[in-house]
Amino acid sequence: MPTILPIRHQAPLPLDRLIRRDPPGAEAIEMDVLIVGAGPAGLACAIELARLVKREQERGGDQPDLNIGVLEKAGSLGEHSLSGSVVNPRAFRELFPELEPSDFPFRQPVPGEAVYFMTEGRAQRMPTPPTMHNRGFYTASLCEMVRWLGERAEALGVNLFAGFPADALLIDGTAVRGVRTTASGLDRSGQPGPEYVEPTDLTARITVVAEGTRGALGQAWREWQQVGSPNPQLFALGVKEIWEVARPLDAVIHTLGWPLPNDAFGGSFFYPLGPTQVALGLVVGLDYHDANLDVHELLQRLKLHPLFRRQLEGGQLLEWGAKTIPEGGYYALPTRRSGDGVLFAGDTVGFVDVPSLKGIHYAMQSGMYAARAAFAALKAGDVSAVALAAYDRMIDESYIVGDMRRTRNMRLAFKDGLYVGGVKAGLMTVTGGRFPGGRIAMPEDASTPRTPVAPRAFTPDGRLTFGKLDAVFKSGNATRDTIPSHLRVGRDVTAEVADFYSHVCPAGVYERVGDELRVNAPNCIDCKATDVLGPRWTPREGGSGPKYRSM
Ligand SMILES: Cc1cc2nc3c(=O)[nH]c(=O)nc-3n(C[C@H](O)[C@H](O)[C@H](O)COP(=O)(O)OP(=O)(O)OC[C@H]3O[C@@H](n4cnc5c(N)ncnc54)[C@H](O)[C@@H]3O)c2cc1C
Ligand code: SF4
Repeated sequence: MPTILPIRHQAPLPLDRLIRRDPPGAEAIEMDVLIVGAGPAGLACAIELARLVKREQERGGDQPDLNIGVLEKAGSLGEHSLSGSVVNPRAFRELFPELEPSDFPFRQPVPGEAVYFMTEGRAQRMPTPPTMHNRGFYTASLCEMVRWLGERAEALGVNLFAGFPADALLIDGTAVRGVRTTASGLDRSGQPGPEYVEPTDLTARITVVAEGTRGALGQAWREWQQVGSPNPQLFALGVKEIWEVARPLDAVIHTLGWPLPNDAFGGSFFYPLGPTQVALGLVVGLDYHDANLDVHELLQRLKLHPLFRRQLEGGQLLEWGAKTIPEGGYYALPTRRSGDGVLFAGDTVGFVDVPSLKGIHYAMQSGMYAARAAFAALKAGDVSAVALAAYDRMIDESYIVGDMRRTRNMRLAFKDGLYVGGVKAGLMTVTGGRFPGGRIAMPEDASTPRTPVAPRAFTPDGRLTFGKLDAVFKSGNATRDTIPSHLRVGRDVTAEVADFYSHVCPAGVYERVGDELRVNAPNCIDCKATDVLGPRWTPREGGSGPKYRSM
């Protein structure tokens, strides 16, 4: 069986498209602060900034109104939002000190918790590792949280532009001066069709990039500005489903082990979402070794395990979706998250603590720091890299970096497999992250060689388990069929590589037809796994992709 090295087949990042030196068009819309991405990071930034302005005005200062805009690629807020999710309410409390937790858009308090080690037929209860405790937290839907935050932002006068993906950063010298949006209405060959709308330029004194996991703009900026990190960023793919069930789940459940092979890092989550719904998902590190590993299929197998089956049987699949998670941790954080006229917040930077599977409150908190740094810079009339470096200092001194430092080598320990990794992770917890000392070096995911292990046939039953096309239907994806492909396929894609891509993609975008790769681009649900291991993802027409309701 041939071994595949994914990086050998990847197209380079299209820097010429993502970083644009040509001046903004004459019709450019001018903003003071432009935020890319209406996720928890972007919306917390917008709300905090609008409040800082209001507070200053109420104090009687001569603070003028600020024109704050948020661009979102989803057709409406929340439609591209997907998380577990168990939320640490810390950032919500700081952003809305006047509200009670019962006012927040959460589904329910965490009722109890359990961790299991799984084999194919059994589930062995384990003590909950300290990093996985969720007492005092809440289960929630990220779509609902985002819509709620959006309403608060709008009430404060923030301009929300849903359905407008940022296609490129507009630059002038070393400074970011705003963004260009994608065109819409292009035909399959990329030519303007009858519904064509040309791109719009939006200029801003400060651009805050909060585009989420594996962001194209963030990658391009770091490559252009040569901003590195001690380790490359690592990613996991999470595939998630929401089910309507007959009886409530009484605990937040995590599992390790089966159906994952021992040399893959990951696990499952099973969360109650009120009396009649549950969320479940499987998260797998993208440095796995088996070229046939398929996260969607593994999730389908997982549901046949008695632990899941007895809860789901007789229920109904409501929604399906997938997204990557940046999980390189502390050593994968870029050395700079600010530059001339620009700040980066949330998942695009990698503010996720993997052992606790938490990112939402870090994303919000980093958005709030970005707002504070932007406000101070605008007041001082200096939006240079030197002025905006105040943001990096706030982040470095915050609990975001403090938490990530404590678990700095934990994900990295699992490159030696589940058992060795488990022992090392235990020692790291006991020593507060000091064991083993130094940094465990990691290659990027695409540099891990893949060898196919003989696949075991799996046929979905259409009741408890589903194929990829049914799953994509449940994501609400209704992307126009005639859209040009936004996926850039690289070099020498052999039949084996085509097979590998077909397993990587949870949405059935890639198919091997004979010895060729077929790309069904409209199926794409923007999970970005492809960008990590295969063809490059680029922004496409606004409103394309999934239409999640309660992910
Ligand atoms: C399966 C899974 C389970 C998770 N479980 C948990 C959990 O239980 N608890 C927890 O705290 N965290 C969890 N996380 C992590 C958490 O969801 C993220 O850390 C968090 O959503 C990051 O927020 P963000 O605002 O940075 O990015 P996002 O939430 O991804 O928001 C980014 C937004 O930017 C938009 N966007 C992207 N590119 C563009 C563009 N070019 N133009 C315009 N808009 C754009 C996207 O559509 C999106 O709306 C989980 C993640 C996954 C995938
Ligand atoms: S093609 Fe789209 S859905 Fe498939 S892996 Fe890539 S980003 Fe995810």
